[in-house]
Amino acid sequence: MTTEKSHLFYQSRQPRPFLERSEGIYHYDENGKRYIDGSSGAMVSNIGHSNPRVLEKMKAQMDRSTFGYRLHFRTHPSEDLAARVAARMPEGLDKVFFVSGGSEAVETAIKLARQYAVTQGEESRYKVISRLPSYHGATMGSLGVTGSPIFTGKFAPMFTEMPKVPAPTCYLDRDNLTEEERGIKYAEMLREKIEAEGPETVLAFLMEPVGGASTGALVAPDSYYTRVAEICEEYGILLIYDEVMTGAGRTGKFLAAEHWGIIPDIVAMSKGFGAGYAPLGAVVARHDIVETLLDAGGFLHGFTYAGNPLACAAGLAVLDEMEEQDLIGNAARMGDVLKARLTALMDRYPFIGDVRGKGLLLAFELVSDRETMKVLPKEWNAHVELVELAYERGLIIYSRRTRSGYEGDHFLVCPPLIVTEAQIDEIIAILTDALDAFAA
Ligand code: PMP
Repeated sequence: MTTEKSHLFYQSRQPRPFLERSEGIYHYDENGKRYIDGSSGAMVSNIGHSNPRVLEKMKAQMDRSTFGYRLHFRTHPSEDLAARVAARMPEGLDKVFFVSGGSEAVETAIKLARQYAVTQGEESRYKVISRLPSYHGATMGSLGVTGSPIFTGKFAPMFTEMPKVPAPTCYLDRDNLTEEERGIKYAEMLREKIEAEGPETVLAFLMEPVGGASTGALVAPDSYYTRVAEICEEYGILLIYDEVMTGAGRTGKFLAAEHWGIIPDIVAMSKGFGAGYAPLGAVVARHDIVETLLDAGGFLHGFTYAGNPLACAAGLAVLDEMEEQDLIGNAARMGDVLKARLTALMDRYPFIGDVRGKGLLLAFELVSDRETMKVLPKEWNAHVELVELAYERGLIIYSRRTRSGYEGDHFLVCPPLIVTEAQIDEIIAILTDALDAFAA
């Protein structure tokens, strides 16, 4: 393992080997060791690594032009990609703004909502209610709506903290309600919050349809989604879906919103949309929101790299691959297989408290007692330990200790959408080995 001094810094000093090459669902390090990318990086590499057809299309664009500033030229890749994205959206959402990542997408969605409200003469509306726990990005604006004290705490005086409602962690509830009733119970907390804040001050509700890094693939009861949408409509509050992780096929539909037939007002996407081939994200908004703004003088916002032709060419090639190979269908099918295999591990390991998720956005959670769902002792550092045990054995998984915003060890197992059943067997074999070592 390479540990020599580096000038580069990220979160920690943790030494990692150099990445030599990547192909399909595999990475190979400088020593030739193979790793299964069981988390698609950070739920990014949806179509797998080094796809030759994507690289070819990107190269063709590179030969033509790599950058044209959007105020100076329109480009075919950005126009074509916007049209392709719009065609995949629910009715009415057909205006696309490109960005270079998830945090930028969330910031853009919020600023779009606010400018629309101001244009409509509703200047009092500025609060974006979000959920605890949640993750919406690392920039100062997105931290304000991120419900994760681990990430936000130190910066608290430096940004505007927005109101939060509890995310529907129904699997922890020990009441006598049905799933349906629990969904309604959590959704109604939004209404209470809106009333408490003053409906005239509330601009939007922002949620991850299936939690990612925040709640570990937490899916709410169906009733939650529909009731939340109804409440937003009732109060004239914009519904923003953060599909940065769930979008572009990860959950077995192009947008997770499709599972419940929800039509948000604004959707933010990134990760699987560029799929690791380019820093790319998109905000897709209701037609009339954008037209109203443009009629009133424009949308005051922008990033230098927004909509650059090379990133958009990558996005187009990724979309081609997804459609031609039916990768969204594969995500649904292989998601069922992987979920069943993870669930079967619960028989062997009593400390697996829950397996959850949709499509290939799947997670399991470790607990000290399945009945009470009590978390593991913090000192065990399980969210790091198990990841390291798997990594040593050539399997990459992704973990967080944020079940409640503060604690709880969950692990995302989210291979690229190209994964096969045989490869799922490989993942489960290595994971079993790592869990045995963890239990020892
Ligand atoms: N929203 C969600 C739901 C995410 O999962 C992430 C990244 N984990 C972000 C926003 C931020 O994306 P980025 O790291 O690309 O800025």
